Amino acid sequence: MKTIIEPFKIKSVEPIYFTTKEERINILQQAFYNPFLIKAHNVIIDLLTDSGTSAMSSEQWAGIMRGDESYAGSDSFFRFEEAVYSITNMKYIIPTHQGRASEKILFSILGGKGKYFISNTLFDTTRANIEFSGAEGIDLLCDEGKQPSLIAPFKGNINTEALKKTIEEKGAENIPLVIITITNNSGGGQPVSMQNIKEAKAICTHYNIPLFIDACRFSENCYFIKQREKGYENKNIQEIANELFSYADGCTMSAKKDAFANIGGFLAMNNEALAQQCRNLLIITEGFPTYGGLAGRDLEAIAIGLKEIMDENYLKYRIRSIEYIGEKLDAAGVPYIKPTGGHAIYLDAKNFLPHITAEQYPGQALCCELFIEGGVRGVEIGTVMFGKYDADGKTIPAPMELVRLAIPRRVYTQSHIDYVAEVIIEVFKRREKIKGLQITFETPLLRHFTAQFKQLN
Ligand SMILES: *Cc1c(COP(=O)(O)O)cnc(C)c1O
Repeated sequence: MKTIIEPFKIKSVEPIYFTTKEERINILQQAFYNPFLIKAHNVIIDLLTDSGTSAMSSEQWAGIMRGDESYAGSDSFFRFEEAVYSITNMKYIIPTHQGRASEKILFSILGGKGKYFISNTLFDTTRANIEFSGAEGIDLLCDEGKQPSLIAPFKGNINTEALKKTIEEKGAENIPLVIITITNNSGGGQPVSMQNIKEAKAICTHYNIPLFIDACRFSENCYFIKQREKGYENKNIQEIANELFSYADGCTMSAKKDAFANIGGFLAMNNEALAQQCRNLLIITEGFPTYGGLAGRDLEAIAIGLKEIMDENYLKYRIRSIEYIGEKLDAAGVPYIKPTGGHAIYLDAKNFLPHITAEQYPGQALCCELFIEGGVRGVEIGTVMFGKYDADGKTIPAPMELVRLAIPRRVYTQSHIDYVAEVIIEVFKRREKIKGLQITFETPLLRHFTAQFKQLN
């Protein structure tokens, strides 16, 4: 088999600024050991997120010039609407400025005290919008999804037995929606099978509950279905997506993920009355229904990006580049969530740094070392992000201590990825000398963005 190459040529480039290890130690100290507080200029390879960090194509840039900035009924809106329709076949398509704006509108209408929203795993902004409305979010991930080193094809699936049981317990009338996140971002970028979505839909239909899809990485998920699920080998991504969305009553999406856009999102559904309510709220929060918080040029870029994201040469390279880091880490014995998912590699910091307890934030310590070693920026998904304190002020740790290295779309080449693997392996070799951290400043909500730390001796 020949090397799978990047399916693009480079026309416009951005320089990377290099720093020495001594400089990075200083930069990190000044950022209080929190990579969110480091200036992007000082990062060599930025794997903080894959959201809004994609490289747009020459076609998308041409679309930016073509964008129609009419306030109402712009051409760009109709091209955007057609692109979303061709994937979802949904009747009502509502643009928003990003994924969480769609969530805010949807859950403001359907949420409220006494309501429950059930999911495989809710993304953090989705959960926050649900809870902000007064409702509760319930995650029912399948058992395989909870075991980091277990190899299984669809570790993002929802547990359908638990779904039935929870609906019975809470009462169908208190559950406005079931939401399936594809791929499962918080659970390692793991895919959901078509079979699982079909089964979830059958349960939802039985209890008369609509099924929504959080579609941020729909194309990556459809590619996994093509690779791993019987009966889909010979279908193209659009056909698989059409079938997948045919089981759904609606969806939310961040175009900053699988639409190669730097900003944007949408809400789509088949229920006319609900769409009407959403549009009413859209007008007071985002804008007129044919632009929803976006410029015409953004709608144009999304319309083009949604078509490009379903190119199988792109998807093959995308999924392969993540798998490729996994193979390099395997060869060196570095622990990570297996198998590799769609958009990121998740290092298992608990097993990487077993001498650092959860109270000393092994994920955060590992993030810091990756930066010092090679200027690589990732994000802790562990006790800093999800930890709580009990009544005595003792830390309640997160279930897993992870470092997510998310790969921006079409931005880095194989040599960048080789470099990242080398940095991780270098840090792994000197892991026993790595020290834990202590928090010196934190805020009550979403503390990971702004917390400050110091190194322990
Ligand atoms: C990013 C993301 C969102 C929120 O989208 P934003 O555009 O960042 O507001 C929602 N769900 C999932 C699964 C995501 O990855």
